[in-house]
Amino acid sequence: MAGETEAAYADDAYLSTLEARLLRLEGERGLVFDRTNFYASSGGQPGDTGFVETEDGRQIAIADTRYGEDRATIVMMPAEDEALPSPGETLVLHLDWARRYKLMRMHTACHLLTVACPYPVTGAAVGEDESRVDFDIPEAAADKAEITARLMDLVEANHPVFTRWITDAELDANPDLVKSKNVKPPRGGGRIRLVCIGDDGTVDTQPCGGTHVQETSEVGEIHIGKIEKKGKENRRFRIRFGPLPAS
Ligand SMILES: [Zn+2]
Repeated sequence: MAGETEAAYADDAYLSTLEARLLRLEGERGLVFDRTNFYASSGGQPGDTGFVETEDGRQIAIADTRYGEDRATIVMMPAEDEALPSPGETLVLHLDWARRYKLMRMHTACHLLTVACPYPVTGAAVGEDESRVDFDIPEAAADKAEITARLMDLVEANHPVFTRWITDAELDANPDLVKSKNVKPPRGGGRIRLVCIGDDGTVDTQPCGGTHVQETSEVGEIHIGKIEKKGKENRRFRIRFGPLPAS
């Protein structure tokens, strides 16, 4: 189902600012625009923050972005003490770009980890300083240094990252595209967004609504900070920025 808000970030993750018209308020304080560059929290990636600017230059801080009651319309949540703009007004939406760019680098890193560590995914959370991906791994075969080296090979190869859309029927015909055991890709609109890495998506292709960098080298230096045991066949991998600390 399409919401009232056009998700401009789905076609261009690099829109740090965007002009948009305020359609209405949802609940007491939620702002619903005709379009937005602010990502709504979903699929393990947190909602965007930043501020919106009124025509007379007033800035209203945005503390979170999430889906509304219909689970499709994007609702931007102003910080508690901010005075609200009025429906009909045109505002400029300014992302906290430094934070979002880290989330984009981390989200792409999480997809690369599913290539470096090709096991079923049981959960994931993207964070600006640390991300985690949970895998179903039968034995404790995972080595931090080895997985980090494989990840950095993928980063340094500078593979292109791009999106394309397929129909529900195409996804049904290619069930191997879904790497996540427990989380089903969002359906209902008749089409599903794929995030592809490498020429023709040969390095990795999986359903994802998140925001990603354009080339894997933008991820920069990352490492596996920790591998934890979570249950008998579950391993939690933590990805952090920077080089692998000497142990
Ligand atoms: Zn993703």
